[in-house]
Amino acid sequence: MQSWIPIRKTDAERAAANLSHYPWVQHDFSWEHARERLRGLPDGGLNIGYEAVDRHLDTERRDKTALRCVDRSGVVRELTYADLGRDTSRFANLLDRLGVHVGERVFLLLPRGPELYVAALGTLRYGAALSPLFPAFGPEPIRERIELGDGMVLVTTPELYEARVAPVRDRLPGLRHVLVTGDATPPAGTTSLQAGLAAESDRFTVRPTDPGDIALLHFTSGTTGRPKGAVHVHEAVVAHHTSALYALDLHPDDVFWCTADPGWVTGTSYGIIAPLTHGLTLVVDAGEFSARRWFQTLERERVTVWYTAPTAIRMLMRHGTSLARQYDLSALRFVASVGEPLNPEAVYWGREALGHPIHDTWWQTETGAIMISNFAGLDIRPGSMGLPLPGVQVALLERGDNGRARVTGDTVETIDRPGVVGELALRPGWPSMFRGYLHDPDRYAGCFAGGWYLSGDLASRDEDGYVWFVGRADDVIKSAGHLIGPFEVESTLMEHPAVAEAGVIGRPDPVAGEIVKAFVTLRPGVAESDDVRLDLLGFARKRLGAVAPKEIVFDAHLPHTRSGKVMRRLLKARELGLPEGDLSTLESAH
Ligand code: ATP
Ligand code: MG
Repeated sequence: MQSWIPIRKTDAERAAANLSHYPWVQHDFSWEHARERLRGLPDGGLNIGYEAVDRHLDTERRDKTALRCVDRSGVVRELTYADLGRDTSRFANLLDRLGVHVGERVFLLLPRGPELYVAALGTLRYGAALSPLFPAFGPEPIRERIELGDGMVLVTTPELYEARVAPVRDRLPGLRHVLVTGDATPPAGTTSLQAGLAAESDRFTVRPTDPGDIALLHFTSGTTGRPKGAVHVHEAVVAHHTSALYALDLHPDDVFWCTADPGWVTGTSYGIIAPLTHGLTLVVDAGEFSARRWFQTLERERVTVWYTAPTAIRMLMRHGTSLARQYDLSALRFVASVGEPLNPEAVYWGREALGHPIHDTWWQTETGAIMISNFAGLDIRPGSMGLPLPGVQVALLERGDNGRARVTGDTVETIDRPGVVGELALRPGWPSMFRGYLHDPDRYAGCFAGGWYLSGDLASRDEDGYVWFVGRADDVIKSAGHLIGPFEVESTLMEHPAVAEAGVIGRPDPVAGEIVKAFVTLRPGVAESDDVRLDLLGFARKRLGAVAPKEIVFDAHLPHTRSGKVMRRLLKARELGLPEGDLSTLESAH
């Protein structure tokens, strides 16, 4: 078992946290009740864009800074809520003039700057469906997603258009309009966004929107295979808003920085929607990751709440605590992480280096919002994902031979005993639940059994209900009768001072079924050698016993998805000499 020491909240921290502000959460939470925190459209209905923008416009927040966008070279552009109201109105009116219908898909292929946020919120206010794409995608992943999503409009830059879209433009006959940013003459076949916006009125009234109308089309990270297009609806905003309150402790006075690109669901749910519904100031940094740059952004922007990912944290950890201590991080009061298991080491590092332990949160593109977390008022159990959020009901399901929940007819068995591993399942009914994989109803139907949504992840629970991640069902290793979660092995390896990151897979073995093989990235300054390898093997054996890796190889560049996840399936395919599968979301090695 993982070794961990709980991080207890002080009374002051507890008092400052939301649970004490909203005592009804613990007693009589209901989604109807949660919805009352939002305004709703004047004539009924619910629209994400309205909750993020319009409802601040008749309040004192109107002239407050909504967005501070720092571009690659450090230039800052700011928009107030009133600016957002005007600019997104222009964008919505432009969609109207282009003949876009409610629910039709508007794709964005834009770097993180004001244009991206204006187009995203303008699309939502208009009632079209938003699909942001990661701007580093190549032509084929872009084409595939626009085709699968029946994209009607694409907003991009002239440079991205020429390099990524022009080569596949003639294979996208359904794409009717390509709008490009900037004031230069637009490339052939595109029109100028700026000229289009200039011709439109800066007033737009959000039309009645059914809470069940499509709002977002988000593609999954492609960690386990070809990305799926998850459909979300406007009422998701109820979960975006409340989960940000409980799990991220967001308040109107906060300066919030979410490091994810809106091309991944985190960058939309918590990089655009949730923070703006709280009326706070959102920081956007379009620069590449560098430890110094990120610490500088935290310092200069006086960020109070920071939401990032384990892979970034691990890169910061390579500098120990000394680099962080060169910056004034005194404004920071809450740090959270998502996307991959957060090693206990990282939680403790946060406490030392940033002054705050890191709060893990678990969710998926499909869930639309955070479902499980070490949320604000709770003691943190490092290595655990935390407890289900109010309104979220979780179960662990007994597994069958294929490692996933065993479904007999339409029934499944839930596990009540602590410490037993099962497939993590959620009771449908939370507002941000996906409503389909676009054009793949069978796959969607296959996600449900016995009244549960099956996540594809394996976990266990302790006596107090904290959920402990074991691995994706696809990644779990069966070795000599043991069921081994890669996370536990990776976390243990990371406790060794020489290790920066680790990826663990099962390699087929005639005797054991599979043996545990680890790919390890060493910290800067540590040379690869047999001594280090032997030391690591011994270190892991002492701590993990029978489930320790039998084989360790060094790998300076573990394959990651662009959303920052270790692609274990690729390590495995390479190991077995099998086809590498869909690589559209692979982060190219630097
Ligand atoms: P695909 O579904 O295309 O294979 P993906 O599952 O990586 O890609 P996302 O929806 O971006 O796509 O990621 C959700 C998954 O990320 C979860 O199912 C889980 O495996 C992992 N994950 C997210 N948060 C955590 C966390 N806090 N701890 C452990 N794993 C996490
Ligand atoms: Mg997934």
